[in-house]
Amino acid sequence: MKKLFGTDGVRGRIPEELNPEKALRLGRAIGAYFGKGSRVLIGRDVRAGGHMITHAVASGLIAEGVKVYEVGLAPTPAIQYNVRLLGMDGAVIVTASHNPPEYNGIKVIANDGIEIPRSDEKIIEEYYFKGTPPSKIMWRSFVEEEFLRTDILENYINAIIDQVDADLIRKKNYKVVVDCANSVGALTTPWLLRRLNVKVISLNCHLDPTFPGREPEPTPQSLSLAATLVKEVRADLGVGHDGDADRAILITDKGEVLWGDRSGALLSEFVAEKWRDLPRRVYTAVSSSLAVEEYLKPRGIEVIWTPVGSVGISRKIKEVGGAISGFEENGGYMHVPHQLVRDGAMKVALTLYMLAEREKRISDLVSSLPRYYTIKEKIPMSREKATCAVNAISEHFSEYRQITIDGVKVIGDGFWILVRPSGTEPVLRVMLEARTLEEAKKIRDNVLTLINKKCLEG
Ligand code: MG
Repeated sequence: MKKLFGTDGVRGRIPEELNPEKALRLGRAIGAYFGKGSRVLIGRDVRAGGHMITHAVASGLIAEGVKVYEVGLAPTPAIQYNVRLLGMDGAVIVTASHNPPEYNGIKVIANDGIEIPRSDEKIIEEYYFKGTPPSKIMWRSFVEEEFLRTDILENYINAIIDQVDADLIRKKNYKVVVDCANSVGALTTPWLLRRLNVKVISLNCHLDPTFPGREPEPTPQSLSLAATLVKEVRADLGVGHDGDADRAILITDKGEVLWGDRSGALLSEFVAEKWRDLPRRVYTAVSSSLAVEEYLKPRGIEVIWTPVGSVGISRKIKEVGGAISGFEENGGYMHVPHQLVRDGAMKVALTLYMLAEREKRISDLVSSLPRYYTIKEKIPMSREKATCAVNAISEHFSEYRQITIDGVKVIGDGFWILVRPSGTEPVLRVMLEARTLEEAKKIRDNVLTLINKKCLEG
């Protein structure tokens, strides 16, 4: 059967690939999945077409007898948190996360606040393509419009403050640069920080669906202005969100943009110390640096490698009954005592809590991590050729330790290589790290030559 959902919901360009007709039909399919009488939140990020898609989906849900509560603009984790707090049956979030501005998307959240599993997406896809089962909805079902009598952003900010020692942070008079990506992170992170007595210097914190400040994905390139600003105003920390603020990339006081696996390792050690009853393990995707394992293992924390994708990590942590954290290099961090999903604002508050307790600069903490130099390459090729490349690398490095849950990750002495087909586009992703930049470049050249010879020539 045809697929509708990608790795994180349904995504498409507005209006060619995602339009009201499609959203309405998908709304009915999601409505049939939740069932008549169920209670569902619906909210969105700032993206173009968001109100159009939201109302079309809501219309489909209501037509299937679902009680729909509109929450308007909100970060993804704020909606996810309120699903559980308010005892909802789920949520629909209209967002395309970090995609370019012309995209929008729809994702479905279960009653535990986590994105629904793949098996449930299949049910919705079946309703979408084959039609929803006949249901008897009487006119009386439509007599009342549903309203929420609570402020979901306030609930969310309060829950985050409850997780940290707010008084301790308040005493430190921190200064933080926040880059909101012109989206919904602006509705919560600066205000959360102000309540922690932080002086907030904001960048791209006015809502604007054209994303005039930078692309919605936080990277060293897109955060270069924020990094300069951190140094210029002598801030203690910088933060860059993605379009729906479930991710946060940190910037050190020295202006270094810190990938999420590095900050994830530091935070996990801190959380293990503060929340002593959590099982001493962390979940991170194979795209994370070996520095994570080298840093946490000697500190008595087990590192469990997972395929790329946060939904899998959330579901896994729930299944095994807990962990210290789950995180990815893209800036997604799950603080398990708070909620089992990525949460950008929670990550920021937790970082300040760590700095306050440790009485150190973030750059000093980073210098205690093993140093690696990273190279990332993206090579266009078909799925078959990408599989050939994975096999070629696996064979060539057969003497080495390998992790094969998503492509192949080869682990050598002082270096590692990850080769995996992308889940969303016809490209091969190559990521590698070594102790020096020269060494990393040499490994990259060898890997690319090998893939060329075995899979691309002739
Ligand atoms: Mg996101």
